[in-house]
Amino acid sequence: MRRFGVRIPTSAQTTEKSLAAYGGKAFKILKIIQMLNFVLFGPPGAGKGTQSEKLIERYQLNHISTGDIFRAHISNQTPLGKQVSALIADGQLVPDAITIAMLEDEVDKNPGAKGFIFDGFPRTVAQAAALDEFLESKGSSITAVIALDVDQEELTKRIAERQKLTGRVDDQADKLQKRIEEYFSKTIHVLPYYEAQQKLSKVNGIGKIDDIFAELCSVVDQYQS
Ligand code: AMP
Repeated sequence: MRRFGVRIPTSAQTTEKSLAAYGGKAFKILKIIQMLNFVLFGPPGAGKGTQSEKLIERYQLNHISTGDIFRAHISNQTPLGKQVSALIADGQLVPDAITIAMLEDEVDKNPGAKGFIFDGFPRTVAQAAALDEFLESKGSSITAVIALDVDQEELTKRIAERQKLTGRVDDQADKLQKRIEEYFSKTIHVLPYYEAQQKLSKVNGIGKIDDIFAELCSVVDQYQS
């Protein structure tokens, strides 16, 4: 897009403010606000979903949870849902090509977004690289990655509780074991990827929800203008 002789990245949110007429002509200030894109990272049961909900409310960002989107496809029995349901029920990761295409689609559905909280994505280094490339093509980037640190004993306890409430098939003990294996064999490598970009912050994910949220906010606030 070209406005006032300036090329504007298509993804950058633009707002215009009319200033008082000057010399008979109205001048406009064109303000380009960089998007705020955060990855909320952590193993199953780390609290990504709970904290994402609070973050989007406070910062008016869009929430993209790939797990939630897959579950919606499964319950609506879409072709994508049928394609991935067995893998998800078994606790395996969905192949990168499918997940990346779905994620890009979700971002493209929200062209005016101030930014995104990516929850459950990226889960492989290939996904992280694809996300960088995709955002770069839109003149944007990942602002920061916040990893919720929770030990395995606590994770197992939390998921057993969640399973009682939601009945999620992949929260059952044997499937959970598979998801934890997927996390430690594939997903954990995403951390050094972002560490090399100096974008990684770690937050203690054990404690009261509001205390953890306050810590997350102190990271996000560093990037707010
Ligand atoms: P979650 O709700 O984030 O725990 O995701 C539930 C399940 O959806 C995972 O165990 C995977 O089978 C699938 N899934 C969600 N996000 C991804 C992703 N980024 N890459 C591959 N599979 C995913």
